[in-house]
Amino acid sequence: MKVGFIGLGVMGQSMAGHILEAGYDLVVYNRTKSKANDLVDRGAEWANSPKQVAELADIVITIVGYPKDIEEVYLGEEGLFSGAKAGNIFIDMTTSTPSLAIELAEKGKELNVGVIDAPVTGGDIGAKEGRLAVLVGAEADDLEKVAPVIETFAAKVAHFGSHGAGQHAKVVNQIMVAGTMLGLAEMMAYAKQADLNLDEVVATIGSGAASNRSLENYGPRVIKDDYSPGFFVKHFVKDLKIALDEAEQASLELPMTELAYKLYSQLAEQGHENDGTQAIVKLWWDDN
Ligand code: NAP
Repeated sequence: MKVGFIGLGVMGQSMAGHILEAGYDLVVYNRTKSKANDLVDRGAEWANSPKQVAELADIVITIVGYPKDIEEVYLGEEGLFSGAKAGNIFIDMTTSTPSLAIELAEKGKELNVGVIDAPVTGGDIGAKEGRLAVLVGAEADDLEKVAPVIETFAAKVAHFGSHGAGQHAKVVNQIMVAGTMLGLAEMMAYAKQADLNLDEVVATIGSGAASNRSLENYGPRVIKDDYSPGFFVKHFVKDLKIALDEAEQASLELPMTELAYKLYSQLAEQGHENDGTQAIVKLWWDDN
C-alpha cells in the first residue's frame, strides 16, 4: 500500500516520519518544497502536486493550515480530486469545519473515493512521540482500511460518527483547551507576582488536582521564555472562531470560549500570531 502525505509542517513532518519508519511507501507534497527534504532523504518520494499524490498513492493524509488550504488541496485545479482513482481514501487531519468535511465526503462519493475527517490532538510533542489522539468522522469500512496507517502515529483512534463528527469532536477538544490555556496564563501571572518558584509551581500543580496537558506541555516552555510553536496562536484563533460559529448555529453560549477568542485575537493583533499558544502569558508579562 502506498501512502500519500500533504502538509509537512510542525505536525505533518513528524506524522509522515512515523509512517515511513513503519515501512510504508510514502509520497509527499508540501507548499514549501524544502520541508520535504528530510523525508525524501529518508526514502520518501516527492510529488509535484496534490493531483500527482492522488495518482501515485492508495490513501492520502492531509494536514494543512486552514479550511481555505484544504479547499485548494482537495478541490483546486491540481487538487487531490483531480487525480483521484476509485477506491482511494483521503483523510483530512487539519482542524477545520464540520461543514467542509461533509462537502468533501459528498464530492468523494461521486468519484467512489472515501473521505474521512480525522483531526488530531496531542500537540507537537504527541506528534513527535507518535501518541496523538485521532478524532474520526467516517464510514466504518473506510476507517477500518486506513486504521493501521493512522496507528503508526496515534495512541488512540476514536470513531465519533459519520462525516463531520470528527471535526465536532475537535471543537469540543478546543473548548477544553481554551479553558486550560487561560488557566495556565492566569496561574503563571499570579504565581510570578507572588514571588513563588515557578519551576516548583509547575511541578507541584502538575501532579495535583489541577494537572492538565496545557500545563504539562507549555508550563516549562513559559518558564524558559520559549514561545516557539508548538501550536500556533493563529491556528488557535481559527479553531476558537470555528467553535463559536458552530455554537452560534446551535444557539449555544460559550462565554469562556468567547473570552479565549478575544484574548488570543488580541495577542495575534499584537504581532504574536506565529508564536506558540503559551505566548498568552505575554498579555500579562508585557516585558517579554
Ligand atoms: P504548520 O506548521 O503551519 O503546517 C501546515 C503545513 O501545511 C505547512 O507546511 C504548509 O506549507 C502546508 N500547506 C498549507 N497549505 C498548503 C497547500 N495549499 N498545499 C500544500 N501544503 C500546504 O501547522 P501545524 O502546526 O502542523 O498544524 C496543521 C494543522 O493541524 C492546523 O489546522 C492546526 O490547527 C492543526 N493542529 C495543530 C496542532 C499543533 O500542536 N501544532 C495540534 C493539533 C492540530 P508551508 O510549509 O508552505 O507553510
